[in-house]
Amino acid sequence: MKHLPMYPVSVVGSWPRPEYLLSAQRRRSAELPALRERACAEALADQLGVGVDLPSDGEQRRDNFYSFLCERLEGLELLSMAQLLDYVEDKAAFEGLLRALDVPAFAIKNPTVVGTLKRRGSLVGGDLSFARRHSRGQVKLTLPGPYLLSRSIWVKALSERAYPTRESLNDDLVRILREELAELVAAGADFVQFDEPVLSELVFAGKSATRTFMCAALAAKSSPEEELELAVELINRVTEGISGPTLGVHVCRGNWSTQEDVLLSGSYGALMPTLARMRVDQFVLEYATPRAGPLEVLAKLPPGASLGLGAVNPRTTELETPEAVAERVREVARYVPAQRIYLNPDCGFGTFAERPVASRELALRKMDVLAQAAAILRRG
Ligand SMILES: [Zn+2]
Repeated sequence: MKHLPMYPVSVVGSWPRPEYLLSAQRRRSAELPALRERACAEALADQLGVGVDLPSDGEQRRDNFYSFLCERLEGLELLSMAQLLDYVEDKAAFEGLLRALDVPAFAIKNPTVVGTLKRRGSLVGGDLSFARRHSRGQVKLTLPGPYLLSRSIWVKALSERAYPTRESLNDDLVRILREELAELVAAGADFVQFDEPVLSELVFAGKSATRTFMCAALAAKSSPEEELELAVELINRVTEGISGPTLGVHVCRGNWSTQEDVLLSGSYGALMPTLARMRVDQFVLEYATPRAGPLEVLAKLPPGASLGLGAVNPRTTELETPEAVAERVREVARYVPAQRIYLNPDCGFGTFAERPVASRELALRKMDVLAQAAAILRRG
């Protein structure tokens, strides 16, 4: 594994898509595979150009952070929220929710189980070898976490023939992600991040809230306590005995809108007992937004874990200053050893292809701030 400098600068995953890619996607162009590769190479070049140490391919092959599984797993189909309206149990409530959350029903697509799940091949192994050819050092791979999948892809009316209950799906999810990790270990992957944004919905949306986290939490849930327990169990089953790549978990409060007031808010303190029991190496957490609460709770991260510190907000056009970011990192170093702090944006810049929270230009400027902050910290 190639060496990372102190205060590595990284991303959470997604990068805004170029217009040629979006247009080819809409037209279902035959050129799409080649254009996706071009966009991935450009996203890597963009990040490397501003000094990102651990870049991603920008998730340019994905419509969103978990929808791409439809192309790589048998038994999954991509349905828009508009299509899903026909199948969700409480249609009026779901429609109202989409409106309240500032989400157009056509723009967000959800992978949905319609048959028995089976990998068609590697989920991201091909992405890794491509990214390696277009970067100088380590690259980050992102995968939807097992709990996210357990909550999002099972829609009773469509899924129950293959999996009568949501619980019956979980064993297959664990098996599929473990198969994938084993292959990534063999390929010498550097960093694999599991995205688990729905965890925040469990603790911040309130006990009575259901389906507040838009598409990524379609399945009805048990009590928050049981769901958090399940999330720990699932990730630990996936990562058990795996060594080689750095394994990360990303938890944020949603990234579908630039309107901060429609996104969830609450301290990570409520999630710390859950995170502390997850057997992973790094937690990638948003801290640029004030909605994330106080830094002190970071002291409760498991000893030895590193922190991907969200230090710039991808959803604001206002630019953070490198000095302020460096100061923030120094503050965080009171709770997490400095040698275990990575500098990240709070979340992706283009989680949803058709609905990025930032332009490419803004993403570049935000990442440049992080790189400058890292330079200040390394000097100091
Ligand atoms: Zn996020």
